Amino acid sequence: VVTAKRPPVIWLSFQECTGCVESLLRSSHPTLEHLLLDLISLDYSETLSAAAGHQVEEAKADSIKANKGRFILVVDGAIPTKDNGIYCKIAGKTALEILKETAPHAGAVIAMGSCASWGGVAAAGSNPTDAVGIVELLPKQKVVTIPGCPPNPYNLLSTVLYYITFKKLPELDEKGRPKFAYSRIIHENCERRPHFDAGRFAQQFGDDLHRRGACLYKLGCKGPETYANCPTVLFGETGAGTWPVGIGHPCFGCTEQKVGFQTPLFTLA
Ligand code: SF4
Ligand code: SF4
Repeated sequence: VVTAKRPPVIWLSFQECTGCVESLLRSSHPTLEHLLLDLISLDYSETLSAAAGHQVEEAKADSIKANKGRFILVVDGAIPTKDNGIYCKIAGKTALEILKETAPHAGAVIAMGSCASWGGVAAAGSNPTDAVGIVELLPKQKVVTIPGCPPNPYNLLSTVLYYITFKKLPELDEKGRPKFAYSRIIHENCERRPHFDAGRFAQQFGDDLHRRGACLYKLGCKGPETYANCPTVLFGETGAGTWPVGIGHPCFGCTEQKVGFQTPLFTLA
């Protein structure tokens, strides 16, 4: 059922791992039920819609028709472009076709995660399906990017609620990222920064300095070249230190197009 009162949202998932949706499911303010039942009308989501099959495809088509220029489109996952996009099909259509028949009618388009922003994991290494992000496929539209792998759910929620409240998008940087979330480098707000400044570096995982919270720069930390609010917003609602660097893993730059997925960690054979 399409409601006219709550702002309509259509969420399309393509070459993805569902980590972006899982990230949203772990947010608590607003709670997911408050978001879905009171604040927005989620008219289509492969993961969260109660309907399935023809029924949910109809709901999507009805929502696009009824809410032209008004609905918020969220996309997670990359789009394969090789061989006319046949490597990702939903309800008989390629991801390419679905994006192109949906995005031009949206009021706002948001790429959730690094895959939707610029290809991410699907485009890593030899990129066997010629996967790209939606920014590349929608050159005439303004696309908000919320990169991260997974991205922080509060960066999506804040963008959506800002748009609903002020009827415009928040200020974006040159890569389409909201400045409120991506204008500072990780290194600026990292709790290990005093160790960096004092020259105390972990040399290998599990060594004494690693155990004592020293800087992870020599283990490959990309915090000095990565823009994101991970150290201040944190993940998973479990308190101080709950972000990758906080628990002892170097930042691998997942919010940066030219850093995160160029690392050996994500180079596929
Ligand atoms: Fe999964 Fe990361 Fe891609 Fe999101 S950005 S779909 S979490 S691989
Ligand atoms: Fe900077 Fe990374 Fe060291 Fe933190 S752990 S201070 S982000 S280099």
